[in-house]
Amino acid sequence: LLPAGDLTALDNEALKQFHATVRARYDAFKARGLKLDSTRGKPSAQQLDLSNALLGATDEEAARGGGDLRNYGGGVAGIPEARALFAPMLGAPAEQVIVAGNASLELMHDTIVYALLKGVPGGNAPWSTAPVTFLCPAPGYDRHFAICEQFGIKMIAIPLTGKGPDMDLVEKLVAEDASIKGMWCVPKYSNPTGESYSDETVERLARMKTAAPDFRLFWDNAYGVHHLTDTPHEVANILDACAAAGNPDRAFVYASTSKITFAGAGLALFGSSKANVAWMSKNMGFRSIGPDKPNQLRHVHFIQNIAGLTNLMKGHAALINPKMNAVLDVFESLLAGRGVASWTKPEGGYFISLDVRDGSAKRVVQLAEEAGVAMVPAGNTFPNGNDPRNANIRVAPTFPPLDSVKLAAEGIALATLVGVSEALLA
Ligand code: PLP
Repeated sequence: LLPAGDLTALDNEALKQFHATVRARYDAFKARGLKLDSTRGKPSAQQLDLSNALLGATDEEAARGGGDLRNYGGGVAGIPEARALFAPMLGAPAEQVIVAGNASLELMHDTIVYALLKGVPGGNAPWSTAPVTFLCPAPGYDRHFAICEQFGIKMIAIPLTGKGPDMDLVEKLVAEDASIKGMWCVPKYSNPTGESYSDETVERLARMKTAAPDFRLFWDNAYGVHHLTDTPHEVANILDACAAAGNPDRAFVYASTSKITFAGAGLALFGSSKANVAWMSKNMGFRSIGPDKPNQLRHVHFIQNIAGLTNLMKGHAALINPKMNAVLDVFESLLAGRGVASWTKPEGGYFISLDVRDGSAKRVVQLAEEAGVAMVPAGNTFPNGNDPRNANIRVAPTFPPLDSVKLAAEGIALATLVGVSEALLA
């Protein structure tokens, strides 16, 4: 057992002793030669099993009279039944919803490419005719930042407050810098902090004055229905807020069924103003004749309605919660009260965000990896991989079986204690 107490309050001798004890325990853990994984936020096999009925859905129905879904036709926006089913999830009328392929990331990527090459409604020129900057609430989703890196878009990290981004800073920056054309937002159960945007945050984002007339919010509602408690977070409707503020074209809204049905074989969703949806559809029409419509019909038959969706998500929560709780229990027993780390207690989404003592995250991740726990590199949750405090670590407990999740959490906690006590001794 480790002696209790705040490490930052120990004198040098006591700290040395603590370090030796925890290092021995860490070495014993490492000697077990475990292979554990806390990298990507993927659904577990049991979660995927919840939607196995999709596989058995009658594809013959897709060949229904008049509009054979197996064939070309119907346009890029998806089948009407799917657009209607997912409209409430996007907060847009069905006519302003596009149901596409299997990855919303693809839609976000393509939106940016279209904006760079062709410009967006309300703009004077393609974005690529001048330097482009995006605001990036951070810690955030590494793949958002990777898209910006890929296309040479400058990123400005914006601190998160627990109720969304620091709006004083956002308002100031967008008002003075016309190169700021976009902002990434994960409004509900954000990856990785789990926070949701308050009504005030939504209102201010909708209303704020932007120097760029063609500024866009990239509203990635990836975890919109991914509740883990019986008191779901509600986020105000961004499309309505933007319309009411006189900025009807400001938000591009994205979601997907990746973490509802099959992560690799679900549906990607887009919702926006009439003008933006017309623009998006036109651009998509050059890229594809249309999406996989039989898969859309399978989803409609399987999910059916909002009640079906709610039920399915309860099944996910029942599988995810024990894993989240296992990590929280281990962190509580090994890290609480030691002054070395703080972590989120998620009420939805896929992640626990662990902040270790400033300057220690890279070392902690290295120690965890050496002990057999695969982690995403520290810093990945920030633009350009640069966490200015070197403190944030994303913990992803959904994929491995419960026993492995517990062990991985122990490995991460021991690595934290070793890494931080080392730093305090240095
Ligand atoms: N957006 C966020 C915030 C995510 O965390 C993820 C997956 O981890 C995605 C998008 C990926 O979504 P999709 O599978 O629809 O591309």
